[in-house]
Amino acid sequence: MSIEETRDLEERVTQVTRAFHATFGREPAWLVTAPGRVNLIGEYTDFNDGFVMPMAIDRRVVMAGGSSGRTDFRVHSLELDETRAFRADDPGGRKNGDWTNYLRGVVDGCKAVDLWVGPLDLVLSSDVPIGGGLSSSAALEVAMATMLEAATGRALGGNRKALLAQKAEHDYAGVPCGIMDQFASALCREDHLMLLDCRTAEPRMVPFTDPGVAVLIINSNVKHELTGGEYAERRDQCEQVARRLGVHALRDATPERLEAARSGLDDVLYRRARHVIGENTRTLDAADAFATGRWERAGQLMVDSHASLRDDFEVSCPELDILVELALGIGTNGGVYGSRMTGGGFGGCTVTLARTESVRDIAKTVGREYARRTGIEPAIYVSRPARGAYVLQGGPA
Ligand code: ADP
Ligand code: MG
Repeated sequence: MSIEETRDLEERVTQVTRAFHATFGREPAWLVTAPGRVNLIGEYTDFNDGFVMPMAIDRRVVMAGGSSGRTDFRVHSLELDETRAFRADDPGGRKNGDWTNYLRGVVDGCKAVDLWVGPLDLVLSSDVPIGGGLSSSAALEVAMATMLEAATGRALGGNRKALLAQKAEHDYAGVPCGIMDQFASALCREDHLMLLDCRTAEPRMVPFTDPGVAVLIINSNVKHELTGGEYAERRDQCEQVARRLGVHALRDATPERLEAARSGLDDVLYRRARHVIGENTRTLDAADAFATGRWERAGQLMVDSHASLRDDFEVSCPELDILVELALGIGTNGGVYGSRMTGGGFGGCTVTLARTESVRDIAKTVGREYARRTGIEPAIYVSRPARGAYVLQGGPA
């Protein structure tokens, strides 16, 4: 069981440039890139106006573009081996599952703010696994917005790009996501985590500078079929407790206030709120721990987060618990500081904070034991906090 290697960016740029030439018969004018992301801590806090702390990962969309000189956009995806056309402002076919919707939503959003030079020809390639919980969709949206910045020579700047990309995901893909994925893909910096306040949409960069520490991402490769109401139910439960506590959102509640109200609360509601309130504190504490290189402390907060998601919020599953347990079994001496499920749960990925020098051995051991116990092969990635979207060639910096 080994780590899936990240291919050299220059090599990928060459490949996309060649594909652009093969598809459209000329050189691209612009090249941009936007990464996927993983959340280190701060789970199920976003809709409670709380804090999340993702980083961009070393897996990214590379996109080449040039003016199409036609009335429609043409786009080729190397992974899907498919060329599609779409028109800006075409009202038809939103939320129909078509992969070009992610691009179309961004194009329409950019056009509405005059970031517009007419239709483009595009070729894209992505090594963010599709549907793997690392936000290949946000990478696609943010790459598209960055392409339009390059083509127009104007930067959307700061949060606007991320919010525009998020709106595309809401309105064109029909996914009511929070702000984390697009903010991380658009604004992350190399060697930094992003502490994001989901109430104010203000990101704060948190240094993660030690090259001796890395992040191991393991996809359990399970997705448990749910009845579908689990997310809405938890959201509703959080809102119920906030109302009972007389706060706008659980972000505003303290542990003391929750304890004072405990006798009048159903146990499930109490535990849901305890997770959210604790997770916000843990996320802020983790930001301090990461920034000061207190890795064991950061790791412990991740472990506490997992226990809370498993026991209080009840969104883990046996496979995620096994992955975390196997990583923690290796211990600090074996290079593991902490491990937790990441994302919505019921399957998907875990994230493990580990010594870079040990990360291969850790991946091997956890991968092998996980496969032995579950009969499922996991997918394994390793990343340091990577740089968010940028223009590789042509256009503004
Ligand atoms: P995630 O964001 O967790 O990877 P989503 O379901 O939100 O999963 O987004 C995956 C969708 O994004 C795919 O079904 C496809 O429509 C689109 N997508 C992602 N990567 C590519 C790609 N390389 N080429 C074309 N479409 C892609
Ligand atoms: Mg997505």
